[in-house]
Amino acid sequence: MASSRGAVCMAQNTESEIDVDEFSSNPTQAFTYYNINQSRFQPPNVHMVDPIPFDTPKPPGHTRFVCIADTHSRTDGLQMPYGDVLLHAGDFSELGLPSELRKFNDWLGNLPYEYKVVIAGNHELTFDKNFMSDLLKQDYYRFPSVTKLKAEDYDDVQAILTNCIYLQDTEVSIKGFRIYGAPWTPLHFGWGFNLQRGQPLLDKWNLIPKGIDILMTHGPPLGFRDWVPKVLQRAGCVELLNTVQKRVRPKLHVFGHIHEGYGIMTDSYTTYINASICTVSYQPLNLPIIIDLPNPTSL
Ligand code: 5GP
Ligand code: MN
Ligand code: MN
Ligand code: MN
Repeated sequence: MASSRGAVCMAQNTESEIDVDEFSSNPTQAFTYYNINQSRFQPPNVHMVDPIPFDTPKPPGHTRFVCIADTHSRTDGLQMPYGDVLLHAGDFSELGLPSELRKFNDWLGNLPYEYKVVIAGNHELTFDKNFMSDLLKQDYYRFPSVTKLKAEDYDDVQAILTNCIYLQDTEVSIKGFRIYGAPWTPLHFGWGFNLQRGQPLLDKWNLIPKGIDILMTHGPPLGFRDWVPKVLQRAGCVELLNTVQKRVRPKLHVFGHIHEGYGIMTDSYTTYINASICTVSYQPLNLPIIIDLPNPTSL
């Protein structure tokens, strides 16, 4: 390459390259294959982690993150622990109705955390502009209460969330931590932010910069708290797993979506937290999960 600028661009492109996985369209098969051939999802490569109790003292020089997801407008009576930063990994509503968003925003406003970071999930229909325009064109009876909304009610839904930092394929730096959030999940009954497995999802994951410390996605990566017992299937995204493990390598990956997968795992570098508050029958019975991370040394 003639100019040094060109060379830098090329180097970045090469680094960011993750190919579509050969088992992309069948995550259950991908899990079995990589487990048998690479022990990719079992000890010593992967371990379960117990959540720490809410009254655990925070070590000096750490920031405490309070992780939740899938509250689905059921925050009344939810016990919220002490912490510095709240992370909500999507599905805070049932349909993304403005009334739900106002209630959620009021709830956020009453929480004591210094920062609150929120992403959307597939239930936040009104946040997905493409979904809304398709719905109005085609499917009047599928979500009648959403279809009935006037354009001015959902044109700027993000503006309702005044009490948090909303991320959508964007990042924010908080206390020296680079936090990135994205709402996309593999197509499942055609809700908001649904994309086909393979290249369409990989295109979104390729937007995640290297050097991110905390990744928030609505759905799990393959193999980490993504098991759906009722259909004996893995629902995680293979491309997201490859992006997390082979390219981005965040210290923490927070998600929800597969309510049955509530809990924590680690691959010894990244901690994976499925923070679904609601169970598969939409009862808000799971507790928030707290995690202390050492403050980045550049502070
Ligand atoms: P939600 O509708 O809140 O996004 O997801 C609720 C439940 O639907 C999950 O706990 C899971 O049981 C099921 N589900 C969501 N997405 C998928 C998927 O991609 N595959 C499978 N098998 N189940 C899913
Ligand atoms: Mn959910
Ligand atoms: Mn870093
Ligand atoms: Mn979901």
